[in-house]
Amino acid sequence: MSRNVLNAMSIDVEDWFHILEVEQVPAQADWAGLPSVVERNTDRLLGLLEETGSGCTGFLLGWIAEHHPQLARRVAEAGCEIATHGYAHELVREIGPERVRADVERSIEVIEGVTGQRPVGYRAPGFSITEDARDWAFEVLADLGMSFDSSIFPGRSGHGGIADADATPHAIAVSGGRQLQEFPISVTSLFGRDVAFGGGYLRLLPYRFLKARIERANREGVPVVVYVHPRDIDPDHPRIDMPMPRRFRSYVGLHTAYDKLRRLLEEFRFGTVSDSLREAA
Ligand SMILES: [Zn+2]
Repeated sequence: MSRNVLNAMSIDVEDWFHILEVEQVPAQADWAGLPSVVERNTDRLLGLLEETGSGCTGFLLGWIAEHHPQLARRVAEAGCEIATHGYAHELVREIGPERVRADVERSIEVIEGVTGQRPVGYRAPGFSITEDARDWAFEVLADLGMSFDSSIFPGRSGHGGIADADATPHAIAVSGGRQLQEFPISVTSLFGRDVAFGGGYLRLLPYRFLKARIERANREGVPVVVYVHPRDIDPDHPRIDMPMPRRFRSYVGLHTAYDKLRRLLEEFRFGTVSDSLREAA
């Protein structure tokens, strides 16, 4: 019966240099001059979605949509739900309400201008809607017309997280009687640590573990959200020189992530974040 639960697949459409909180990461002013791997890897992911008949939400970084408009259009034309990852990949809890509003608004304008579709949801870089940001962040997102958010990490993560947050999809009340649907990052515990089904964890964790934990959630009727960055499936992408253990976390398992993702897509039902939220309601 677990096969009946519709899980959510998501791609955070960004490049290899959009890594957070590492000193050696190039500044935004230099991004346009760097080699890029986002197109070839996003295209591979879109191919995989098509082969397996899976739905997906593309959280497009506004900067990427602006500099790779054809790619943004391909994501939309592939049938992905269009959502935003903000414009400049900055941490929500660090930049505050005014800059978050300006950043998300700019991303919406760019993404809609390029794809013809207005983003319907948001994911913060580094899942950075933390305890001190949640009160204002959801107001800002509702003001900008977002219908869902997928930014809360209900556990402890390198970038923050909210340890006591509701871990299953739920509605968040916003002022004026408005509501935002929240699809928190799906988290499971491993040796006392909170691990997610995506990014570095998708690269690091054995397939059997991922499969067993998703089955367990689905058996309880709970959908999970899986996320992948285009760079996660590319062993040949340029590397940033950073200290261990961050280097390990950023680059482990690049050879295995694509096959794990394929198996997940073959063995479980995956759709867009909106469709998964709708079925879970
Ligand atoms: Zn990101």
